[in-house]
Amino acid sequence: MADLPENVLTELGFRYDPSDLYQQVIGDVLHACQTMDLPRHLQLILAQPKNEIIMHFPVQLDSGEYKLFKGYRVQHNNILGPYKGGLRFHAGVSLDHVKSLAVLMTMKNSLVRLPLGGAKGGVQVDPRSLSQDELMRVSRRFTSAMGDNIGPDYDIPAPDVGTGAQIMAWIADTYVNMSPATTRWTGQAVVTGKPVEFGGSQGREKATGQGVVYILEELLPEMGIDLNGMTYSLVGYGNVGSWVARLLTPHQSVLKCVIDHTGAIINEKGIDPVKLAAHVDEMGGVGGYEAADEMTEDEFYKTRVDLMVPAALEQMIDARKAEMVNCKVVAEAANAPTTPPGERILKDRGISILPAILCNSGGVTVSYFEWRQNRQAESWDEETVDKNLRRHMYAAAQRVKLAAHRYECDMRTAAYCAALDQIDKVYKIRGIFP
Ligand code: NAD
Repeated sequence: MADLPENVLTELGFRYDPSDLYQQVIGDVLHACQTMDLPRHLQLILAQPKNEIIMHFPVQLDSGEYKLFKGYRVQHNNILGPYKGGLRFHAGVSLDHVKSLAVLMTMKNSLVRLPLGGAKGGVQVDPRSLSQDELMRVSRRFTSAMGDNIGPDYDIPAPDVGTGAQIMAWIADTYVNMSPATTRWTGQAVVTGKPVEFGGSQGREKATGQGVVYILEELLPEMGIDLNGMTYSLVGYGNVGSWVARLLTPHQSVLKCVIDHTGAIINEKGIDPVKLAAHVDEMGGVGGYEAADEMTEDEFYKTRVDLMVPAALEQMIDARKAEMVNCKVVAEAANAPTTPPGERILKDRGISILPAILCNSGGVTVSYFEWRQNRQAESWDEETVDKNLRRHMYAAAQRVKLAAHRYECDMRTAAYCAALDQIDKVYKIRGIFP
């Protein structure tokens, strides 16, 4: 049984390579399937996405030149409901990358018990290299390239790294304009994470960070960490990282150091999250922030804190960094931030990991609330959004704890087991067509 993930991957034609992100993610899922003794056909179904769509589309730049862009949409699984998952604009976007993130969405949506499947997409582009007009043309042309592969009843994208409310608004506007007049207004539910004025939900912008904080409130005290006075570090200060920091402020937690693509900074007395967010908005990163000292990447990872929150990109906590990490708990706000060798080292060093599909599922949960509000022509106040989000996050944390107890496994395996339990039940109830 121990080599089952490898066997399933071999049957599907993979050359087993544990350093590959897709195999890392699917390997974790298959390991959980094996822990639960789930049927082999379910493992085969989950080991590959249902649809992998690659698009090439031309866009005119401000210079008058045309550039050909590459876009992806991967729809991993829709046994639980319409596909759902973010769109990433980043130079490093690749098919394998998007596939990995699509699997995580299937697992996340199931863990939080949303009636949604898993998908992910993106465009291979550095959005910072484009003007606003070029970004709008790329977003609109990408939407038309996706065509009927997205839709409010079929596949509902959302923001991810490099995209945000404005890009969602351009996508929704393009989709609505391409729809027949009679369905035009239901069309805006094609994406979530829109501006509040155009069908967005209260609380969506902060939702992923808010979800992380609810999980920390629920789990850290029983791991011996009091949020009041806790010290922590952040990898990444974008949407997720900066909201985690802002929402931990009322708990009197101390943000000691931050690293992003522009540098690393430290202030032993604590960094003010709101002032740092304003600096990042203006300067594009944490580098040059005056109320803190600069430090090297190695110094950042070696700094003693109670909690470290990776909130940047995938596979950042590798074996080398895991040897340096100096904290009690790692809460994975980013998707798949820890490599398997990194994870082994953290575990050997007694550092606990709160897994990504649990920690960062707040974003898709509020996206689901937005989709529901659009479809019911309603708008909830922020208190209602937060109350419902807290309920979903606490319930997911309980499910993970129960699975860890039942299968006597670590939190990552437990989170996948709790997600797979629902998927397995629905496959058994629905059967496999024909
Ligand atoms: P973002 O684009 O707003 O921020 C990304 C951050 O990563 C930035 O601070 C950037 O400086 C930093 N970064 C990039 N390269 C880096 C490097 N080499 N070293 C250190 N930092 C680096 O993205 P986001 O929306 O905050 O997403 C962050 C993570 O959370 C991603 O893994 C994303 O998939 C995940 N996530 C986001 C959401 C959401 O709602 N935004 C939901 C679930 C999961």
